Amino acid sequence: MMQIARCRQRRSELDSPSAELDVDLLLCHVLDRPRYYLYAHDDIELTGAQLRAFEALLARRAAGEPIAYLTGVAEFWSLPLKVAPSTLIPRADTELLVEWILEKFSAQTVLRVLDLGTGTGAIALALASERPKWQITGVDLQSAAVELAQANAQALQLPVEFLQSNWFEAVSGRQFDVIVSNPPYIEADDPHLIGPGVAFEPHTALVSGDDGLQDIRQIANDSPAHLAAGGVLLLEHGYRQATPVAAILRDAGFSGVENRRDYGGNPRATWG
Ligand code: GLN
Repeated sequence: MMQIARCRQRRSELDSPSAELDVDLLLCHVLDRPRYYLYAHDDIELTGAQLRAFEALLARRAAGEPIAYLTGVAEFWSLPLKVAPSTLIPRADTELLVEWILEKFSAQTVLRVLDLGTGTGAIALALASERPKWQITGVDLQSAAVELAQANAQALQLPVEFLQSNWFEAVSGRQFDVIVSNPPYIEADDPHLIGPGVAFEPHTALVSGDDGLQDIRQIANDSPAHLAAGGVLLLEHGYRQATPVAAILRDAGFSGVENRRDYGGNPRATWG
């Protein structure tokens, strides 16, 4: 038996700048309680089963596994999303893509949107939460991701269609007003891939050929056939890829190519 207060001190076992938060989130998960409960009831004892569960999660966290995989949830656009090792953990920087689309297209226009490589469904679901009338489709190559995205849509009661598809395959005859994607864009030999956390995420969601641009090239080339007149393609990319991505979009026939920076000030998204 161990008190909540003593469990919380075990943050010293984690070599992480977010050790205090991490331990609290693991305790909240094991106890199925919100964070304020930990402060208000720090003299409560964990049961044997709770303590074993907490210690197992703490050991996994100490080995570098991302907190979102341990608790099974990540927040994106203030939506609690289920995550699993089959999907990338949604990043705050990706909210930039959602913001950009919402800024350009009001709730009055009814749009058809396609989210390529939707993973947890993050972008598609965030858009659906803000624009309930839009027809939003998310596709992913991994059926495990599609099932997870569908579960997220159901839990959040958001009307998004999720399909298993190799890029445009399952929507071949259809047209969209907006195609958005956070595709894999990391170079195969990027040391970032063995860095903290990322090593636990699916490589197929991260790596895109030797130059990191293989999927972006394919999406840019295949998008025009699926875009309605005046439609836009919006892509997330690496912070050093703004110039090559702009060139790829222009080569594929896009005009009005524009880039935006993420919250860290790095070029992170381009549209045309
Ligand atoms: N931005 C992510 C990272 O740095 C990569 C996301 C992606 O490849 N789509 O880990």
